[in-house]
Amino acid sequence: MSAIQAFIEKFYSTGVGVPIAGALSWVSSWVPFSLTYLSLFLIPLALFAAFALGHRRGFGLVSVAVVAVVLYGFFLLAWGLNYRRRPLAETLALGPVNIVDRALLLRQYAVSTEELRQKLPKGCPRVLDLGETDRAVYPFFRKTLESYRFPAPAYHPVKSSPAGVFSFVSTLLLKMGNSGIYGPFTGEANVTQPTAPGQLPFTLVHERAHQAGFASETEASVIAFLTLENCDDPEMRYSGRLAFWGPLSDSDKKFAGLSQGVQNDIQCGWDFWMKYRSAIERPTRLIYDYYLKAQGQKRGIKTYDDASELMIRALARAGK
Ligand SMILES: [Zn+2]
Repeated sequence: MSAIQAFIEKFYSTGVGVPIAGALSWVSSWVPFSLTYLSLFLIPLALFAAFALGHRRGFGLVSVAVVAVVLYGFFLLAWGLNYRRRPLAETLALGPVNIVDRALLLRQYAVSTEELRQKLPKGCPRVLDLGETDRAVYPFFRKTLESYRFPAPAYHPVKSSPAGVFSFVSTLLLKMGNSGIYGPFTGEANVTQPTAPGQLPFTLVHERAHQAGFASETEASVIAFLTLENCDDPEMRYSGRLAFWGPLSDSDKKFAGLSQGVQNDIQCGWDFWMKYRSAIERPTRLIYDYYLKAQGQKRGIKTYDDASELMIRALARAGK
């Protein structure tokens, strides 16, 4: 860990960053719709307006640069510095797991995942209600963070992508492969609707974890997984399990003896996303990959796939 990471962890991520994001989230909570989605349109508009106004006086590009620097400064202060915080693996002392322990853990976990599945209705996992799930899972989210001595953000309902006349925004986001988004300028956790079977609890807590200052995709997923493991509702826990097993390789699943029933449930989620596959998904992923790398996330979009390995470390540490 570098001295800068230690400084940001102490004074920003678990310090002033918490009330700053909390204040933004509190202000946004007074508005019944998502300001994050609005900001997706307003930010390019602000840059365009800066160019148009400056252009008349002969300094269009300078105006754009000034607005971009101000926005980036606000982004860093409001949330973006969290990309430079101390790695979660170091804070929670999640060391590497040797190959034998890893194999044993996967086998045991495949058995307990199947046992969990047996408690649920047959067929594809249910798509849960956003508001109900949000209220039910929040106390476990708070408890999980506090058990690791991380500050938890105050409860303001998670927002969802627009419905009704603006439902094209949800469709567009789904076509980009987006299941949720955290608004760094608004402090809002957003979930894109509809959600894939069995994925809502995981997506919701993943976005909440971003709100709590875990900027890294891997770390937000690990916090979501640990939260759902603590839930007493089997449907919530199972959502975490699907997120755990989904990205693991076929050989890992086969070796662990993961049941066909669980694999079918993972497939239900993939089938949902196949319906929305489109030509805009790839360029969107490339842009996000570039963005993550610019924020110091060396593996870019691949960090999503690293979550399962960190979850294995967390399970090994918990002695599961
Ligand atoms: Zn995320």
